Amino acid sequence: MTEPALFATYNRIPVSFDSGEGVWLHGSDGRRYLDMGAGIAVSALGHQHPHLVAEMQKAVAGVWHTSNLFEIPEQARLGERLVAETFAERVFFCNSGAEANEAAIKTARRYQFINGHPERTRIITMAGAFHGRTLGTIAAGGSPKYLEGFGEPLAGFDQAPYDDIEAVKALIGPETAAIMVEPIQGEGGIRPVSREVLAEMRALCDEHGLLLVFDEVQTGAGRTGTLFAYQSLGVTPDILAAAKGIGGGFPLGACLATADAAAGMVPGTHGTTYGGNRLACVAGNAVLDVLLEDGFLEKVRQTGLYAKQALAGLVDSHPDIFETVRGEGLMIGVKCRAPVADITNAARAEGLLVIPAGENTARLLPPLVATEADIREAVAMLDRAATAVEAKSAAAPQ
Ligand SMILES: *Cc1c(COP(=O)(O)O)cnc(C)c1O
Repeated sequence: MTEPALFATYNRIPVSFDSGEGVWLHGSDGRRYLDMGAGIAVSALGHQHPHLVAEMQKAVAGVWHTSNLFEIPEQARLGERLVAETFAERVFFCNSGAEANEAAIKTARRYQFINGHPERTRIITMAGAFHGRTLGTIAAGGSPKYLEGFGEPLAGFDQAPYDDIEAVKALIGPETAAIMVEPIQGEGGIRPVSREVLAEMRALCDEHGLLLVFDEVQTGAGRTGTLFAYQSLGVTPDILAAAKGIGGGFPLGACLATADAAAGMVPGTHGTTYGGNRLACVAGNAVLDVLLEDGFLEKVRQTGLYAKQALAGLVDSHPDIFETVRGEGLMIGVKCRAPVADITNAARAEGLLVIPAGENTARLLPPLVATEADIREAVAMLDRAATAVEAKSAAAPQ
């Protein structure tokens, strides 16, 4: 046995994929897998989508990278399109979700700084949140399991219990700069924050001169049936972090903001070598071409409703295995009673990829091109997986 070359940071499943089509992946084990994880909500249009492939093939034959020292027309165009489709007036591009959140945090603090409040640096976040793995975003997320062993957490984050507006209110002080929240917690287990709480957060921010930051790294790029989740919630943030699906599989992150919120981010305050390079922004534009096609997001909402109903039926027929279904659009969690790892493993044995999340939840984050027939097939596989888990626990010695 040779020593492994890679950091031991992942418990990898021993299968790899080198081709796929739409919602299907072909495994190195010779099997076909129905992909209801989309690489953690990244492959928004599935695998080898013809429009993405064509656009990227053209781009690869040209210049790949020039850095942000120069103009990048594809980046300017993607920024203009995001501005046209959202509340935002300014966009900063980066490579990942954690970086998008870092940019959001810095933007919020700079806003307070240039508006005569250099003391306002603290950001209120929610328990159970996940904002990434940089030193800043693990402090923002506040999860002890991600902070342990990495020294003093970055200062400046105050955490309120999930969905508790009174606690948020109590945490607001003279040093508060912003409130930062995922409209639906993804890694936390597909836990939606209620509309009322989000609306009250907006009101509190307006009242106290704070900025409202939405982490839409997982909920964005059409995942919940609108381009961004805030658009169906009736609550508009000042700053929004996006990544995952917006590049359709190419690393791309973005921090969106109003002109006012972004006013402190002047030359020299922030930057990135790769962020928003030509290839990444060709991918981003190609994804947007499809998401903005007439009827595409409407279809995501319909397929999402169908999936939730079908999964609710599945929960009813396996009450010892599953507990409840929650989520929005094609961001769906099935909270389990049996250990979620048993269910995701049994699902994979049936040829189905689903992803575990917090609160013992199995996540379904299919490519947004998934059809009702694909969902039916996934539910049938989950049904067989649940039956297998039931059989195993019945056979186990008591
Ligand atoms: C995945 C995720 C992140 C981190 O994104 P990376 O690209 O892994 O840095 C941040 N916030 C949310 C809500 C996420 O789901």
